[in-house]
Amino acid sequence: MFEFNYLQAKSLSEAATFVAANPDAKLLAGGMTLIPTLKQRLAQPSHLVDIGALPELRGIEVKAGKLVLGAATRHHEVAVSAVVRQALPALAYLAEQIGDPQVRNRGTVGGSVANNDPAADYPAAVLALGATMVTTRREIDAGDYFQGMFATALEAGEIIVRVLFPLPQRAAYAKFPHPASGYAMAGVFIAETKTGIRLAVTGAGPGVFRWSEAESALTTELSPAALEKLSVDSADMNEDIHATREYRANLVKVMAKRAVLKLLES
Ligand SMILES: Cc1cc2nc3c(=O)[nH]c(=O)nc-3n(C[C@H](O)[C@H](O)[C@H](O)COP(=O)(O)OP(=O)(O)OC[C@H]3O[C@@H](n4cnc5c(N)ncnc54)[C@H](O)[C@@H]3O)c2cc1C
Repeated sequence: MFEFNYLQAKSLSEAATFVAANPDAKLLAGGMTLIPTLKQRLAQPSHLVDIGALPELRGIEVKAGKLVLGAATRHHEVAVSAVVRQALPALAYLAEQIGDPQVRNRGTVGGSVANNDPAADYPAAVLALGATMVTTRREIDAGDYFQGMFATALEAGEIIVRVLFPLPQRAAYAKFPHPASGYAMAGVFIAETKTGIRLAVTGAGPGVFRWSEAESALTTELSPAALEKLSVDSADMNEDIHATREYRANLVKVMAKRAVLKLLES
């Protein structure tokens, strides 16, 4: 039998102190990934430290040209937020496409970004927009944050407090969802910024990545036709029971073109 202790954190500092002192403890936010992991005995923490209701981790606001999401903000809250819909509608759309209503009502932005599932949606927006993860210890730029499949720059016991998304001129997200889970088989987030186009891909490779060739081509000519001659290397894509490498490579291009079209229509 596997036993653990449950601790409902009363403050962010209590949670941070506890996980720093107890390396076998795990933070619990929405539990949408962690609970299935516990059920399969893939993790056997000594304690679950519940941070899902901490007021310090909640809130949605626009401040100094950035959309600020508290780490425990739930996907549904992002999807229906008037602030997000006005400031960064592509992110509200992205949140609306995650999983199913149960997942959207429990899962959180911080949990998704901390988990860094290679098929999760938020990492594409975080990387394309050049977001910043504000943690209990420091600020981490998106470019330094993602370190491959389920790997991030977070240190043991470090808690994401909020995520800051710089507001682009325009943005769009297009994903081909897995029909059962909703996770991205390929998802492309595109952002038009003052310095050019940024484009990040999730779901297709071992981790979220920027497609720099597409960014250059689209910065020169913002049209789906600009992607016609380009392709991602299928050798860098994932292959599993759901799709071959070649299928995923093609899907990236298809989703990128759809994202460009959506951007132009926005
Ligand atoms: C059926 C199903 C379908 C799904 N479909 C999609 C989908 O289509 N797209 C998608 O993007 N996602 C999908 N998800 C994932 C979901 O969106 C959650 O975001 C994700 O599971 C993690 O968020 P959570 O709040 O539930 O985190 P938890 O499960 O509570 O935690 C996940 C991990 O992050 C750590 N953690 C949590 N919060 C923090 C924090 N603030 N700082 C540091 N570490 C933290 C935890 O310790 C744990 O290791 C799906 C999940 C399920 C079960």
